[in-house]
Amino acid sequence: MFGAQVVLDDLDLDVEQGECVVLIGGSGSGKSTLLRCLNLLETLDDGRILLDGEDISDPRVDVDAVRARVGIVFQAFNLFPHLSVLENVVLAPVRVHKRPRAAAEQQAREMLARVGLADKADARPDALSGGQQQRAAIARALVNAPALMLLDEVTSALDPELVHEVLTLLRDLRRDGMTMVLATHEMGFARSVADKVCFLHDGRVLEQGPPAQLFDHPREPRTQEFLSRLQ
Ligand code: ATP
Ligand code: MG
Repeated sequence: MFGAQVVLDDLDLDVEQGECVVLIGGSGSGKSTLLRCLNLLETLDDGRILLDGEDISDPRVDVDAVRARVGIVFQAFNLFPHLSVLENVVLAPVRVHKRPRAAAEQQAREMLARVGLADKADARPDALSGGQQQRAAIARALVNAPALMLLDEVTSALDPELVHEVLTLLRDLRRDGMTMVLATHEMGFARSVADKVCFLHDGRVLEQGPPAQLFDHPREPRTQEFLSRLQ
């Protein structure tokens, strides 16, 4: 609830291990709010979120520990501008999770190499292109070895020629078995990467299914209308 407004309601979503679930839907349909709930950035008034069978929406849960298991990446990369790329990636493991610095740094360097930024570790974020900054933000989320990655419109702030490099990275992650829930307006990408597509409307999952079914044979009139407006 935001004030008197019920934003997500009666919403049921299962994500299997290794699955890539894509959220689509109009502006204000609740995609970002759902992702923020899964990362405990919003609190639930009702309902539960189970991660590997554990109720992470229980108020007694260790929020930092949950956030290490559930990584989130936003449209605006939210890197700390005064820290190097490497420091951005090691910050949470060292400060929040009290990992030894040397081990955390080594892991951070491995993650930066994984996203193709091995040579940018000592650069400041503003010396990177938008696509590189977004890949650094993804490395920062990956360094905690999350069980689940949440990605909210991670290509929306990028120039078109930079979108491709981030989408390629997400495809690689999926191929490597990362469990992901992502919100996107890129229907071509959704179709190619999703195991399951969920159409949100007014805070509900109105329809869900494999991409071929949802995009080519949507059942709900509202899904049909949403998709036809994109043509
Ligand atoms: P978009 O495609 O534009 O990103 P979305 O599907 O991500 O949209 P949300 O941002 O989840 O939509 O918003 C869902 C609803 O919740 C909207 O009606 C929005 O106005 C409302 N909302 C979101 N965040 C807040 C907030 N912090 N305070 C009040 N209302 C909010
Ligand atoms: Mg949003």
